[in-house]
Amino acid sequence: MNAFETDVEHTLAAIAAQSLFRRRRIVASPQGVHLTADGRELVNFCSNDYLGLANHPEVIGAFKNAADRYGVGSGSAHLVCGHSMAHHALEEELAEFTGRERALLFSTGYMANLGAIAALTGRGDTVFEDRLNHASLIDGGLLSGARFKRYRHAGPEHLKSAMSGAGGKKLIVTDGVFSMDGDLAPLPALAELAQETGAWLLVDDAHGLGVLGERGGGVLEHFGLNQTDVPVLVGTLGKAFGTFGAFVAGSDALIELLIQKARTYIYTTALPPAVAEATRASLRLAHAETWRRDKLKILTERFRHGAAQIGLEPMPSPSPIQPILIGDSWKATALSEALLATGFLIGAIRPPTVPQGSARLRVTLSAAHEEAQVDRLLDALDRLKAKNDTDTAP
Ligand code: PMP
Repeated sequence: MNAFETDVEHTLAAIAAQSLFRRRRIVASPQGVHLTADGRELVNFCSNDYLGLANHPEVIGAFKNAADRYGVGSGSAHLVCGHSMAHHALEEELAEFTGRERALLFSTGYMANLGAIAALTGRGDTVFEDRLNHASLIDGGLLSGARFKRYRHAGPEHLKSAMSGAGGKKLIVTDGVFSMDGDLAPLPALAELAQETGAWLLVDDAHGLGVLGERGGGVLEHFGLNQTDVPVLVGTLGKAFGTFGAFVAGSDALIELLIQKARTYIYTTALPPAVAEATRASLRLAHAETWRRDKLKILTERFRHGAAQIGLEPMPSPSPIQPILIGDSWKATALSEALLATGFLIGAIRPPTVPQGSARLRVTLSAAHEEAQVDRLLDALDRLKAKNDTDTAP
């Protein structure tokens, strides 16, 4: 074996030895509460399809019609000949939905974050990031070439001290809803600090848009904040909106700058136009069908109440992300497998996605779930907990 082959073998063995091996499941059904994965019928409690729109007939219909009209591939990057009327209309609707001058589509949320942070900052600037930010935000900060400082999770006090004496332009970057914890960033305090220090605030509301706020305006609507407070808003389309892709929303000048400078916008193929048309349909549904948010809230409360009753201590999350903290990666994996055996799909989230010693089951709720399914999941968790308590009794 040469040095690469030996290293690959060692790396894989080391990952497996810590119960950190990642495995894919092969899904044979449409996305939904009922999923056929690896040939088994499962009730899905780990999707980000919070509003249950991924498989909505109107969204599918819009996709099919647009594929007939535009074909499948977009042909090129937006700046070459890939920017269709479908993309353009969606951008205008996203701007209106977020109450901003303009919005710019990116092919994924990962790329939106990399592109925006690196376009806005560079050598001599400083990027400040919450310790629990999504990997794409962290990578964007590292890629930018700016000085990179991480502050304590949801800790504006710590951020304030980290900001003193920082040079250049200052960009504060945070998840709106933290993807693996479900809690909210302290945005009013961060926005105030940004104003005080002349910094800009970038919020990635991948998990809040469509879900939080009466009209689904996300974490900004939840806190009553606007474009002055949060000049750079990132949203993704593969979660509550049930499709694929992402966008940045902000002022006309911000969007124009990203078109000129964001490399993940300039140098990549545009989303398929049919995905843009499907998203226009899901955006309309997400906006209009407020019952989806109401139901999600009821299911979330039901799960939290039930989890507390069986002694699971739910984490302080007001969102449909309701993780159950386990700690040990072996234990989290074993629990996920045991749930699978009873017909529930819930992944074990382990380091490096979450900090060492904080492996968890990331339960997510969807407006497509029924109360009875939540109750059955709680029963299964209760039985597993009782078994675990007995197995580990002194
Ligand atoms: N930001 C956050 C907070 C996310 O959770 C994710 C996806 N898990 C992304 C960005 C990346 O979005 P996408 O899947 O569209 O690349």
